[in-house]
Amino acid sequence: MKILVLNAGSSSLKYQVFEDETMLAHGMVEQIGEPLGDLIYEYPAKNINLKIQEVISDHKEGLEQVLALLLDPEKGLLSEPSEIKAVGHRVVHGGTQFSTPVIIDSKALQAIKDCVPLAPLHNPANILGIETATQVFNQAKQVAVFDTAFHQTLPEHSYLYALDPSYFKDYGVRRYGFHGTSHKYVALRAAEQLLKPLEQCNLITLHLGNGASACAIKNGVSVDTSMGLTPLEGLIMGTRSGDLDPAILGFLVEHTGKSLDQVEKVLNKASGLKGLTGKVDFREICEDAIAGNEAAKLALDMTAYRIKKYIGAYLAITGPLDAIIFTAGIGEHSSQLRAEVCKGLEHLGLELDLTKNQNSSGPEISSDGSKIKILVVPTNEELQIAREALALVK
Ligand code: ADP
Repeated sequence: MKILVLNAGSSSLKYQVFEDETMLAHGMVEQIGEPLGDLIYEYPAKNINLKIQEVISDHKEGLEQVLALLLDPEKGLLSEPSEIKAVGHRVVHGGTQFSTPVIIDSKALQAIKDCVPLAPLHNPANILGIETATQVFNQAKQVAVFDTAFHQTLPEHSYLYALDPSYFKDYGVRRYGFHGTSHKYVALRAAEQLLKPLEQCNLITLHLGNGASACAIKNGVSVDTSMGLTPLEGLIMGTRSGDLDPAILGFLVEHTGKSLDQVEKVLNKASGLKGLTGKVDFREICEDAIAGNEAAKLALDMTAYRIKKYIGAYLAITGPLDAIIFTAGIGEHSSQLRAEVCKGLEHLGLELDLTKNQNSSGPEISSDGSKIKILVVPTNEELQIAREALALVK
């Protein structure tokens, strides 16, 4: 069965076409609504790798262009649009309404719209993607898979902030957590590797990309995660500060002459690695650190230190741990950061095998004697979305 997976941003659309669990083609439409847009299309089985530049005025036009390529007799893989049986949408925020994926009907769409205040930058784009795909692939089932859903198992004492409960009841202020599709996918893969059902696994998953989050998984379910009401909380990220004293906001507003809006932008877009080093790309920062750049070295130390603190905290709540899992761009590729994070944690039962770590010959990079396994598991959120859509539609 053919599934289209869509991840819509405010001016972009990433897409993948799956035949059950096999990805056939993928690409993206970027700069939608700009003077010149980019359409990227890759279909490896036919050795096709296209980048087309043209005006793409809106998401509908972008998706229609993708469909035209998919239907092209030479370059495409569909003979008619109805071959796509389901469109799986990545939806960032599902609030407390969604703990599982859903087939989107008018009620579900309204509930996703109700979550817009919680994710004003993301959900409107996701809704646009859903509305566009409903028009272009009108015979397909539309399925929403939520970044927040996996964390809906957090117990109350974990998701509530220590505020008057009316802020939760009236405004929905609580920890929601994100990257849920990735944490779930790598947890399932880790359970396979551990030869145990996920329900019997205690894990700490570390999704370390431009955005980064940690998740504590007890008996297969998420019991805590580092991102909160928004994806700003927690680990040090590409451009986000992660944890800080909330009083810093008011302090900066008072003393820098910046508005609250500007300070929030600083925390989201000009902090983390970018704030510390001026750079976002972790590879460049590692190179700078090796070359002796003090700011880059400090940024790496701070990043690893923050992750260590979360490992310690989560070890205290998961009970006996089966494994720690590194995933996403940095987690999968930076042996240097993994080594830094694991250094000094031997007394907790975490022992890295430096050679395995260096060679990335994973998934297992812990020493044979390590009580807790250390795994590198490449994430694949799109495959997980395709799986979830497939399971619902079947
Ligand atoms: P996103 O959150 O945008 O999906 P990714 O998961 O792709 O991010 O991760 C992007 C980060 O991974 C970047 O900071 C990039 O520098 C880093 N990265 C990718 N490859 C490597 C590598 N070989 N070594 C170190 N860092 C890497």
